[in-house]
Amino acid sequence: MPRSLHDLTFSAMERELAASGVKPIHARALWRSLYREMETELTQRADFLMPLRQFVDEGLGDSGGWGLDQPEVVSDLKSSDGQTRKFLLRLRDGETVETVIMGYPGRSTACVSTQAGCAMGCTFCATGQMGFVRHLRPGEIVAQVLHCERALRDGGEPGLRNLVLMGMGEPLHNYDAVMDALEIITERRGINLAPSHVSVSTVGVVPGILRMAREGRPYNLAVSLHAATDAERAAIVPASRRWPLDELIAACRAYGKITGRRIFFGWTLIAGTNDTPAVAHQLAALLTGIDAHINLIPLNPTEGYCGQTGSERAAQTFKSILQAAGFPCTLRQRRGIDVAAGCGQLRAAKKPGNRDFAGPNGAPPTNF
Ligand code: SF4
Repeated sequence: MPRSLHDLTFSAMERELAASGVKPIHARALWRSLYREMETELTQRADFLMPLRQFVDEGLGDSGGWGLDQPEVVSDLKSSDGQTRKFLLRLRDGETVETVIMGYPGRSTACVSTQAGCAMGCTFCATGQMGFVRHLRPGEIVAQVLHCERALRDGGEPGLRNLVLMGMGEPLHNYDAVMDALEIITERRGINLAPSHVSVSTVGVVPGILRMAREGRPYNLAVSLHAATDAERAAIVPASRRWPLDELIAACRAYGKITGRRIFFGWTLIAGTNDTPAVAHQLAALLTGIDAHINLIPLNPTEGYCGQTGSERAAQTFKSILQAAGFPCTLRQRRGIDVAAGCGQLRAAKKPGNRDFAGPNGAPPTNF
């Protein structure tokens, strides 16, 4: 299979051109056509200067040189309120991932996948229930953003304003590909999404959190907690056995200290399990001293999980306890549920032979 031009950061593209005897300066025109014009066909471009035209014409196609990531749209579903749109996209090897556009007044947010399936096995999550299939390449992550941009443009809407890596997969389990993809997506000569409008979500992959801090990655960090004790957390997020809460909270404190950034903590509210006032007080105590914003997410239904969505009253009480403890707190509106595009509902068709690394009772993944 040819390599994908969409896998290359700008500097990697310059290096690849140079390796083919083309001056790196030509990367600008190639980059513009890929990420400003969002071209899907690069051959026979009269506006490319000859060396670049040769690189493209000879390299693209079935010759084993370069290709593009253009996932095929298997389905395109709109929620009944018209505000959420979910795409099932087929990648070059036949694997499928889901990508969601969430519309808000005057702005849109894309939620993209970083893996086919997921190894973390969160019990309430449809992706976790399907198991891990494989990591996505940078180009496969970038292609989801391009697909959303084109869909918005074709509908006469402004482009994306925000990007959240909260689709299928654990982004920090696929660290290098995710960071390359974000470098491409935020590159000012191309898609130019503001880094401060990008959120990387994790269930608490401690080495990835520390690495983001060390490397000065300019994106928002969102940590999904869901429980305030190790035992309760392990029942919801099996992978958390590998990174107990004391390690995770220490990593969050270090992240805050090094970067000076606020951390967004995600909390899926499950009736009677983690939405009680006592748990809210535990959570407030756990996060004491951290510059934290807490996002409360009412549980969305999935086939493989029997937990229930709690009452609005329980959610509001939970929220007010956290606010009284000094934490900014948001209760997220449920949306896209009728097309299974809500948090924790993304799942692609499973192909025979896919492996489950960590199920609800499985061992946490070890490949970090
Ligand atoms: S919630 Fe996120 S990390 Fe957990 S199984 Fe689902 S996709 Fe993976």
